[in-house]
Amino acid sequence: MTDKNWDNIDQATMAVWAGEEKTFLEGCAQVPIVNSVSYSHDDVDEWFEVATGKREGHIYSRNTNPTVDVFEEKMRVLEGAEAATSFSTGMAAISNALFTFLSPGQRVVSTKDTYGGTSVVFLEHLPRFGVDVSLVETTDMDAIEAEVDKGCDLLYLETPTNPTMKVLDLKRLIAYGKERGAIVIVDNTFATPINQNPLALGADLVVHSATKFLGGHSDAMGGILCGKEDLIKKAYSFREINGASLDANSAYLLLRGLKTLKLRVKQQNENALALAKYLEGHDKVEKVFYPGLENDPGHEIAKGQMRGFTGMLSFSLKGGFDSVRKFLPSVKYAHRAAHLGGVETILGPPRTASHVELTEEQRAALGIPESLIRCSVGIEDIDDIIADFEQAMKSL
Ligand SMILES: *Cc1c(COP(=O)(O)O)cnc(C)c1O
Repeated sequence: MTDKNWDNIDQATMAVWAGEEKTFLEGCAQVPIVNSVSYSHDDVDEWFEVATGKREGHIYSRNTNPTVDVFEEKMRVLEGAEAATSFSTGMAAISNALFTFLSPGQRVVSTKDTYGGTSVVFLEHLPRFGVDVSLVETTDMDAIEAEVDKGCDLLYLETPTNPTMKVLDLKRLIAYGKERGAIVIVDNTFATPINQNPLALGADLVVHSATKFLGGHSDAMGGILCGKEDLIKKAYSFREINGASLDANSAYLLLRGLKTLKLRVKQQNENALALAKYLEGHDKVEKVFYPGLENDPGHEIAKGQMRGFTGMLSFSLKGGFDSVRKFLPSVKYAHRAAHLGGVETILGPPRTASHVELTEEQRAALGIPESLIRCSVGIEDIDDIIADFEQAMKSL
């Protein structure tokens, strides 16, 4: 197969076919798992050309690997990027991006609600290397811009946020950061490329935990960074040396998952909206956090920048954490676990999972109620999910 033009092709088709044009040994129709650490070159001149990037090919799998290449190409096409490079986990992708593009004396601006691991990089690790970090109130766009005005080499955004589904105005903030010379990175893990493409809104780079919706089956970890070619080259050079490379076996599982990305995400968008509406009307529920609900504070902005509102939502129960204690074990068809984005419904209270290291006061400061449950809505039949929740509510 020859190189394709993806201009008028739907993401469902991209997810199946992008990156698949390479021919593999014996013409196998599926991408093989290439479990080879190195690649032998009988001709030393050819070896030299591959090693110096003058000819296509592979040298050593910490740098590049044929299975991993296909995963990167699929994601590059799905995010509409010039280039993409992969990592062993989402956190590897995020920390590589931050450490590639920030140097001592520089300044990064982000928000208080970033993913837990990302916050730790901002609060504990970047300062050790003399990087000035400013984390702003997540929904205060004016305050974010004011911090950018004080100096900003890198603007790091994440939307919708974990776990309270706050929405940032990407177009506005990206434009503001770019005009002032910052590199703008967006964590698009919750939205997926099906619902949101930050590069099309002007961002320089988009980062994902592939562990979540991209793989979609809760059986492989990975990360991906997509964007401008010159920036991706720099991030790749740093990753190649620090070694946080994606393994071929994981890449294969992620590739297999990616083929159904649009089907899954469409179903999860629909299921989450229906579940959010059910929960909103329930007398045992205190509050529902989902940008798909018309009265949600992020609804209007989300509508402008997202094609769907994601399969993630959270809700708080009346009666404090005691209600969570009763509700969670009563749900029949859900994992009670810390991850998200799988085909199965997954429930996790931030108090015991994502935000367990914070005190009650710190959680309150982030607007996280003690009785909050984060719900990654799966692809199960929505009537079954709602019936299951309804019987579990009876335990309260
Ligand atoms: C899970 C997650 C990460 C980290 O990804 P890992 O693959 O677990 O390292 C980063 N950002 C968001 C929004 C996530 O949900």
